[in-house]
Amino acid sequence: MRVTALLLTFLLAACEADPPEQTAHRRAWTIMGTTLEMTVYRPQGDDAAADFEAAYAEIETVDQLMSLYRSDSELTILNTSRGGAAFAVSPYTLDVIQASQHFSEVSAGAFDVSVKPLIDLWGFYDVATASLPDETDIAKALMVTGVDQVALSDTSVRLTEGAALDFGAIAKGYAVDLAIAALQTRGVRSAMVNLGGTIGVTGPHPDGSPWRIGLQHPRQAALMATVELSTGAVATSGDYDRFFEVDGRRYSHIVDPRTGWPVSGMASVSVVAPNATTADAVSTAAFVLGADDGIDLLNACNAITGLSAAIASDGGIDVAYTEAAGVLTVAVEDAANLPDPNRGVQCVWPPG
Ligand code: AMP
Ligand code: MG
Repeated sequence: MRVTALLLTFLLAACEADPPEQTAHRRAWTIMGTTLEMTVYRPQGDDAAADFEAAYAEIETVDQLMSLYRSDSELTILNTSRGGAAFAVSPYTLDVIQASQHFSEVSAGAFDVSVKPLIDLWGFYDVATASLPDETDIAKALMVTGVDQVALSDTSVRLTEGAALDFGAIAKGYAVDLAIAALQTRGVRSAMVNLGGTIGVTGPHPDGSPWRIGLQHPRQAALMATVELSTGAVATSGDYDRFFEVDGRRYSHIVDPRTGWPVSGMASVSVVAPNATTADAVSTAAFVLGADDGIDLLNACNAITGLSAAIASDGGIDVAYTEAAGVLTVAVEDAANLPDPNRGVQCVWPPG
């Protein structure tokens, strides 16, 4: 009797230690002006259709609320509403504005969703027709740019007259986090959501191995680094997505809200963070701050790591890495000189 009970216990323990085989399900969509890919692991025989549906619905909601390419999105309606009036917004939009204010603060204003008048002026919504603006127009756009143009209450937002918001630097990350949360709520333990290079993962692969994410070199058809991640997110900001050239000079879509000019001298910044909202916003912020201040920000931020690729005076690319924090596997030669960690800034949003 005692032997049988012991045997049963042993068998149960063996069953627990040996979970059912997991199968990877993959699907791709086009949304938010880019490609969305998801991988979801489910026990063999299970269907992932409802997982995909739940996760996709979140991303679609963000697109419907925050796209500037939709005349009926909440953001477009907010941007075209009368300045100075309180405008009731959805909890998601409120969340993104709150997060944006946090990222503006930690980056000393380099990250700023009120850059829309500048992006309009420079023509980055349609680079095919873009040209250099006048300095006087840049000065005018700068007068309606800045955190002081946006006031928040618990349910509404108030923009000063002429101010307008662009969530292009944070909405993809926010959407990825919502999709990952939807998958987790459905009991998914291992998944990846990749929205145009803004990537969130939950759980390692079922065999315990991390996800391996290659970071594209900004100028070569090669990887610059590989990130190994079991949970968290990666995002990249670059000068190669959306830009125009005048007299051989590249003007790309990330603007410095302190000068009103597109950032120059940077090719890309990649950030690894606990969530995709943070990775997305902080990569844009560090790109604006430039090679030195950008890497300083990444080094100062708790729980964040990354790399920046600056354009050297000879036109080559200078790569700088943060202290690696165990998640960034650097696949290039010159990774020996990692800067000293000097952390303490709470960059991750939401905090805690
Ligand atoms: P990302 O690719 O995430 O770095 O986001 C770049 C997009 O964010 C641009 O295409 C603009 O729509 C917007 N943007 C440009 N400059 C800034 C800035 N300084 N702060 C916040 N958003 C910006
Ligand atoms: Mg971004």
